[in-house]
Amino acid sequence: MADHKTGDQIPAAATDISWEVRNGVTRAADVLEKYLGEIERRDDDVHAFNLVLTDESRARAAEIDDAVAMGRNLGALAGVPVALKDNMCTRGIPTTCSSKILDGWKPPYDATIVTKLAEAGAVIIGKTNLDEFAMGSSTENSAFGATHNPHDLTRVPGGSSGGSAAAVAAGFAPVSLGSDTGGSIRQPAALCGVVGVKPTYGAVSRLGLVAFASSLDQIGPMANSVSDAALLLEAVSSHDPMDSTSIEQGPLEISQQLDWGVAGLRVGRITDLPEGASPDVNERLEVAFDNLRAAGAEIVDVEVPAFTYGLTAYYLIAPAEASSNLARYDGVRFGLRKDAPDTNAMYMATRTEGFGDEVKRRIMLGTYALSAGYYDAYYGRALKVRRRIAADFAKAYEKADILLTPASPTVAFKMGDKTTDPMSMYLCDTYTIPSNLTGDPGMSVPFGTGDSGLPVGVQVLAPALKEDVMFRTAAELERSMS
Ligand code: GLN
Repeated sequence: MADHKTGDQIPAAATDISWEVRNGVTRAADVLEKYLGEIERRDDDVHAFNLVLTDESRARAAEIDDAVAMGRNLGALAGVPVALKDNMCTRGIPTTCSSKILDGWKPPYDATIVTKLAEAGAVIIGKTNLDEFAMGSSTENSAFGATHNPHDLTRVPGGSSGGSAAAVAAGFAPVSLGSDTGGSIRQPAALCGVVGVKPTYGAVSRLGLVAFASSLDQIGPMANSVSDAALLLEAVSSHDPMDSTSIEQGPLEISQQLDWGVAGLRVGRITDLPEGASPDVNERLEVAFDNLRAAGAEIVDVEVPAFTYGLTAYYLIAPAEASSNLARYDGVRFGLRKDAPDTNAMYMATRTEGFGDEVKRRIMLGTYALSAGYYDAYYGRALKVRRRIAADFAKAYEKADILLTPASPTVAFKMGDKTTDPMSMYLCDTYTIPSNLTGDPGMSVPFGTGDSGLPVGVQVLAPALKEDVMFRTAAELERSMS
């Protein structure tokens, strides 16, 4: 059996950790201790985690090491610590969505991705902070306090998967899972300088992901490298008969193609992209186009006229679905309950106390958009815009295999900068939202730095189920930076 390893002797990449653990070179327990040590040292400042599963993860790592010692075959994530966004159900372990309303609730079942992680030999290290119910772009809307960007503690990590992004950036876990409804994996990935992927809608099961906007929500990986993101996505993607929107096909196959390069690939530049990205971000995007051209790709101009309406359509559709999904938190079935003289008063007291301001704003927006007199004018029209956007992208993909845009309009902003102006916060999602509306995949790849030396992410977009081509392009961008 392996000698005890510590610190730098433990590989940083999930692909290497898994190989070494499976081959008895490194113990899962030693890998875990390294990450628990980092959490202990720095998470008081970063606050990436709502809950660190110290005992559970130690027991699990010991189990993995025993299995290796007995010569058992382990999966692709053997001994790899994974941080989970705290809106994914873990049986018997609190799942809060960073909301007071779920106070004390322990899910009676595991999300499908939790089962898949277990099958692959992963070690769940903790549950990460998020904007309450995944509504936000800064992780400041958490009932448990904000997460800080590990690159600069006075700045936000992005959101809503800010805890998962910060956990990877701070070295608290080699990989994590986030959820993306309008950009919540890709935007924080960009701001924290990690890779973040929103897969094709339906590629990863949503069973056990607490619903925000069900027609948009997707779980996806966050990692230090494109290859680690591919490894994790392959492990969690699958058809799930328990999720009626799950695509009927096996796991995505990506890893083998990562070094195929981009020769001959048509990479689209969207000429009518909504303005708003800052000069430092646009500069990096230009370098990305240049590097892909130098690697043999052809850069083509495309138009996506309806792109610009994405934000408006999203802020009707997402709140509409949220207002319906969040109706279940009534003080009877989950978590918090504020007693009152009659049932209606109890509902009202519970929801008044349990939900934060942004969640209440979304519920009001959504309820209004769905109300009898306004349904056609707002929700109905937003659905038409959604179809227009999908049609425009389909047309662009006749000319291009891949599209590149900024992931976030700016680098990480200061904490508190956007909290009093919701619209300025919503604008963070301008470039990420369209692929949630179409269901197509998108990912953010760290691509150098912009203002104040902070990370910039370039977004790679692809047609549905073309994750292989998207990852190949991302891998080329990554290589071109090294
Ligand atoms: N920031 C967007 C919102 O607040 C997206 C959130 C998400 O993707 N979960 O709705």
